[in-house]
Amino acid sequence: MKVAKDKVVTVKYTLRVDGEVVDQGELPYLHGHGQIIPGLEEALEGHEQGETVHAVVPPEKAYGQPNPEGIQVVPRSAFPEDSEVAVGEQFYAQDQSGQPMPFTVTKVEGDDVTIDFNHPLAGKTLEFEVVIAEVRDASPEELAHGHAHGPEGHHH
Ligand code: ZN
Repeated sequence: MKVAKDKVVTVKYTLRVDGEVVDQGELPYLHGHGQIIPGLEEALEGHEQGETVHAVVPPEKAYGQPNPEGIQVVPRSAFPEDSEVAVGEQFYAQDQSGQPMPFTVTKVEGDDVTIDFNHPLAGKTLEFEVVIAEVRDASPEELAHGHAHGPEGHHH
């Protein structure tokens, strides 16, 4: 079976950035529903179960370019007292509707903490090696939800 819209595709992937492995895993997703980054979805389209696909995805089809407005300097006192505020640590802020917004600490200078709301992979070209482990038809429930369910059924 070929990768196409409304198929559930299980992929085993390795993600490299600048030659370094940054992520690796196996997951099912519902093809054609924006569950994975657009460039990878495009690259997998039409391939068969069992194939290995190598895809080089530019930032425009991945996490976009970093937005300079996503970088802010805040005082140390803006963090909970017992938290470790160090470069590379991730925290969550809340937007006006209460949605979590992850950010990363990128610099600590005295009381000034520089934080970055951009996705860590923004501005990066992503190199994927993907084995298409399984392609199957989606269930009506999966189509209604717009995502794949695991082998044990519903996971939310
Ligand atoms: Zn669901």
